[in-house]
Order: sequence, then C-alpha cells, then structure tokens
Amino acid sequence: MAVTYTGLGEWPTWLDTATHTPACRGHDTDLFFPSASRSGVGAKRQITRAKAICSTCLLLDPCREWALRQPLREVDGIWGGTTTGDRGRLLRESRRQ
Ligand code: SF4
Repeated sequence: MAVTYTGLGEWPTWLDTATHTPACRGHDTDLFFPSASRSGVGAKRQITRAKAICSTCLLLDPCREWALRQPLREVDGIWGGTTTGDRGRLLRESRRQ
C-alpha cells in the first residue's frame, strides 16, 4: 500500500483491511509521490514505474475509486494507477457525460 499519506483527506482505511496485499507494499513510498522529489524526465520515469506496479495490483479499482472520491487538492500522489492530474481529467470527463 502507499504507506505514507501526507494529504489532509480521509486515510484509506480499507487498505488496512483489504483482502489482497497492495502491490505497492514494500516499495519505496517516494515512488508514489513523484512531485515531491523529482521533475521532468525523472518524474515521468517515476510515474511510469509507479503505474506499472499499480497495474499489477488486485486493489487497483477500489484504490482508484477511493482516490477519485477525495478532494483533489488534499490527496497527492499516485493512487489506483492515477496521478492527481489523471484524476482531475477523469473527473472533468465524467462531468461532461
Ligand atoms: S492500486 Fe497502486 S497505490 Fe493502490 S494499493 Fe495498489 S499498488 Fe498501491
């Protein structure tokens, strides 16, 4: 799971009791918070690596749904295979439909 949560929103407690082990468990937490440590090409590589880990996670859908329900400004980082920017785009697209 993305173990360090620095946002102000609700902690995803469902991760603590999830029936499957989060694929991000054991990985460096910083990998899932690229904006805090890198920019440019380095950040893109980091995001690609984090998303690749998420793509193998059995919790991908609930994790993404949780992240989409949180206020964008309060939840940073990659959750459910999405960056904050991705979630903003998904939310804007869903409002247009
Ligand atoms: S989808 Fe990604 S951030 Fe969410 S629990 Fe799985 S690996 Fe961690």
